[in-house]
Amino acid sequence: MVFSSLFYTISKRDKWKEFLESIRNMGRKCKFFETCHQPAVFQIPHSNLALCKQHFLENVEKRVRKLIEKKHMFHPNRGEKLLIAASGGKDSQVLISIIKTLYPKDLDIEALYIELGIKTDNYSLDSGKIAEDWCKHFDIPFHTINVKKDYGINIDDLHNLKEIYKKSNWQYDLQAFRGECSYCGSFKRYNINKFAYERGFTAVATGHNLTDEATSLLNNFLNQNLMFLSRPGPKSKSESKYLVPRVKPLFFISELEITMYAYYKNIPYLPTECPYARQSPVNKLKEVLLEIEEYRKGNMIAYTRGFYKKLQPIINEAYQSQIRAEQSEHLCTQCGRPTFGKICSFCKTQRYLRKQFRKVDEKLHVSILTQNNLSNPS
Ligand code: SF4
Ligand SMILES: [Zn+2]
Ligand SMILES: [Zn+2]
Repeated sequence: MVFSSLFYTISKRDKWKEFLESIRNMGRKCKFFETCHQPAVFQIPHSNLALCKQHFLENVEKRVRKLIEKKHMFHPNRGEKLLIAASGGKDSQVLISIIKTLYPKDLDIEALYIELGIKTDNYSLDSGKIAEDWCKHFDIPFHTINVKKDYGINIDDLHNLKEIYKKSNWQYDLQAFRGECSYCGSFKRYNINKFAYERGFTAVATGHNLTDEATSLLNNFLNQNLMFLSRPGPKSKSESKYLVPRVKPLFFISELEITMYAYYKNIPYLPTECPYARQSPVNKLKEVLLEIEEYRKGNMIAYTRGFYKKLQPIINEAYQSQIRAEQSEHLCTQCGRPTFGKICSFCKTQRYLRKQFRKVDEKLHVSILTQNNLSNPS
């Protein structure tokens, strides 16, 4: 049984029923057969450990707990408040489930969903509903920030803006356009940080998984983006008192393992992909990494672990002054959030984008901003 090729197959979206079928036929016993008497239903990609359903679920939970404790991400029974960034996707749904399994009562948890205004396939509405229902299921207080309401712009608007640039052949503006995902990331980061700080949370947990982290590492490596490469792994180390530490408990759990965990635990999540995901160049890199994983099984976890253990300390050493500058305690003159200039990059971006929308209005006499009411997608 070539598991690594299955690893690749599953990543090719929703072929995972085939994947399951092949595991059922693998005919291996659980490593702990003597205690559980069950056949194996999963093989951990980097260790070859064949496990039954129950032992697989426990293996994932054990690895997550170990990382939480090792990195001191958060501590139960210490009056800490954890904010989970909920998206309705499999990563954050699994994260909520694992945290509630590990800490059923002894941790104060709330969730925040960022409504990005992506109407294709009802993407934003459906993901918000799934996230909210899952939080209700666990009695987790659920909050929503609607970027359209707060900033007058959503991700569909930004996509429309890009399309106008293309149609009008505004090459300069098109080149300056950073891509839907880049703006989306900045909306999410800024609002999650701000919300967590203002509401007194002690940590923010996100569902980033090993596959995402390894891909972003490769991307920054290829771009020789040393500032990004110097950024922390599973837990942020910001010294700024205005930034709540960010933690990634699923940092060493692969996308495949998360999908299988969701399947075996019947965890609901939005199976459809964001319509803008495919446009992201990083997606191609992910496919390449998964292909490498096919013939170098365990490569992804080894390379990510190795980077944070061996290479990152060297990069950090070399870039200490820049890192300190990034963590400076200046406050943005517009929004009051920490920045290393006068105005934070989020406010600068918002100002620039509004100017671009005005320009389209004035030059082409078309308003491309969508309506505020997202409950009636057209
Ligand atoms: S794929 Fe891009 S646009 Fe879609 S939710 Fe993710 S970051 Fe946002
Ligand atoms: Zn077992
Ligand atoms: Zn600002």
